[in-house]
Amino acid sequence: MFEQAVLVSEALRKSAPQMQGILHMAMKGCPHCGTRQMIAEPALGTCAECGDQLKVIEE
Ligand SMILES: [Zn+2]
Repeated sequence: MFEQAVLVSEALRKSAPQMQGILHMAMKGCPHCGTRQMIAEPALGTCAECGDQLKVIEE
């Protein structure tokens, strides 16, 4: 699961600039280790790396 999360993060960094606005509104992150994931379901869930509760990222 961790490798998958890393791949998602890498894909997001390489996304086209016009995608940034959408991604900022649909990102969740782990306050414990800094992992970021795209929100793909109603529940935020937990961090794939450390198991901490994920929170919506507001930038
Ligand atoms: Zn974490």
